[in-house]
Amino acid sequence: MEMVLFVLIGLIIGSFLTAAGLRIPDGQSIVYPPSRCPACSRRLRPWNLVPVLSYLLQRGRCSGCGERISILYPSGELAFAILAAASFYIFGWSWELAAALLFSAMLVMISVSDLRFMLIPDRILLAFGIPLALLRLTAAPLDPWWDAAAGSAGGFALLFAAAAASRGGLGGGDVKLYAIVGLMLGFSGMLMSLAASSILGLSAGLAGVLIRKWGRETEIPFGPFIAAGALLVYFAGA
Ligand SMILES: [Zn+2]
Repeated sequence: MEMVLFVLIGLIIGSFLTAAGLRIPDGQSIVYPPSRCPACSRRLRPWNLVPVLSYLLQRGRCSGCGERISILYPSGELAFAILAAASFYIFGWSWELAAALLFSAMLVMISVSDLRFMLIPDRILLAFGIPLALLRLTAAPLDPWWDAAAGSAGGFALLFAAAAASRGGLGGGDVKLYAIVGLMLGFSGMLMSLAASSILGLSAGLAGVLIRKWGRETEIPFGPFIAAGALLVYFAGA
């Protein structure tokens, strides 16, 4: 019963997170204007805003002008619903559940933002990084307690070096994001997630080259791969 509730509330919150993740990098307010079709500006009605379902019923198109709706909306909604349910399943009612939900929410937001704008906004990192740091320092510490600080500093330093070496492949957002990933996973978890993210990113890059004929110049946002690798290690290690 509680699991079903987590999925349903996860879908609704996921819908908000996705919309905010697509508005914040654009400098838009997250509450105003109300949701509208970016193509024809038609105000969305409540029945257009049911997570995932509206997208499926409208076959992925605006019911006003027929313009395609970004697949990022139902994907973000579904992703957060699954992560919220998994968090509750694994951690139950605990402080780590709060950390898991915040971490998942942040990663969904930065993934949609990075996929759309090739940008991981500082505002999102700060909004989630501060409460996560407080949780790791107080109610939901790692064992030993200093592992969060070691992971955070190590993640930042490693990605900083990688960004400097890649000359533009990795951005400053990825570096700052890894400070938070290290905070959540600790030092060894951070290293494992880095390996997982790199394998996922390289596989996707290779698939892109083979299937979609991506060239050397194709820019790939690394945020979603960092998110997937971090969540994999976080949930598998729990
Ligand atoms: Zn429209």
